[in-house]
Amino acid sequence: AKREGKDTLKFFDQSMQIQARQRMELEGELRHALNRNELSLHFQPQVDPGSHQIKGMEALLRWNHPTMGSVSPAKFIPLAEETGLILPIGEWVMQQACIQAASWHRHFGPKSPRMAVNVSPRQLKKGAFLDVVQKVLAETSLPPGLLEIELTESTIMEDSCNTITLLEEFHRLGLMIAVDDFGTGYSSLSYLTRLPVDVLKIDRSFVSGIGTDLNSEVIIRGILSLAESMELNVVAEGVEDREHLEFFQNHPCQLFQGYYFHKPMTGDQATALLKDQLTR
Ligand code: C2E
Ligand code: CA
Ligand code: CA
Ligand code: CA
Repeated sequence: AKREGKDTLKFFDQSMQIQARQRMELEGELRHALNRNELSLHFQPQVDPGSHQIKGMEALLRWNHPTMGSVSPAKFIPLAEETGLILPIGEWVMQQACIQAASWHRHFGPKSPRMAVNVSPRQLKKGAFLDVVQKVLAETSLPPGLLEIELTESTIMEDSCNTITLLEEFHRLGLMIAVDDFGTGYSSLSYLTRLPVDVLKIDRSFVSGIGTDLNSEVIIRGILSLAESMELNVVAEGVEDREHLEFFQNHPCQLFQGYYFHKPMTGDQATALLKDQLTR
């Protein structure tokens, strides 16, 4: 039995080595992804439940590698965060998202959707992010009210003193601020009263529990009533089927984002969809 234990240990050791090597290889590739034009943005509509009109678009990063194919954001975003590559990549995302949003704004006018951009904690910590946003807004002439930044609860909580100042500066610029994956992070909600937040995004894990998991439904109801009393907007993420939708008929929420309505799509596809909807 002792020998067996030793072999198992050796096996784990090897597999850890393989994992570490794969990670390093992936990191090496990610370093070049931006220069080699392997990154792109997809956009997922956020729709109004009554009219089904598209009010927002979330920018979602994609990495298409020549031999590995498409690499999941769940895999490469954490790597980008750990290595600091999220700084140049995040700046590029902000720039590309605003170029797209400004182009829609020129084509579709006041009805064009707001652009939601995911922002990592690392980007906020490096003080230059405010400058990046200001520079991109100036370059693209995007009305700041059409830009929303999505921060997770843990990002917001990480270093609360500085975050407040920074978020207030974003607010002063006219941006909207959304709390992503809401409900999954911190039990203390007191930060909501202190921070200039506009939108709560109910995490997909709760929406997928509708109809099967009472706890999820209880949490969603809690989030909706909290949002109502604090006058915050709510986006329900991961709305996939009729059952999800029916639940929200009795528990109104401002916007839906999910496969039931639209999957993430390329910029051209999103433009065509908006053209179809907004110029009818
Ligand atoms: P997220 O911000 O929570 O984004 C929503 C994720 O849920 C997206 O996954 C989207 O494709 C997926 N989704 C939307 N509707 C549905 C649905 O009805 N069913 C299911 N099963 N999934 C749905 P994606 O694109 O793979 O992105 C994963 C995560 O990667 C994002 O989660 C976000 O945390 C991160 N991410 C993506 N783009 C960026 C970026 O530009 N910057 C940063 N910092 N993070 C990003
Ligand atoms: Ca998000
Ligand atoms: Ca989310
Ligand atoms: Ca998430």
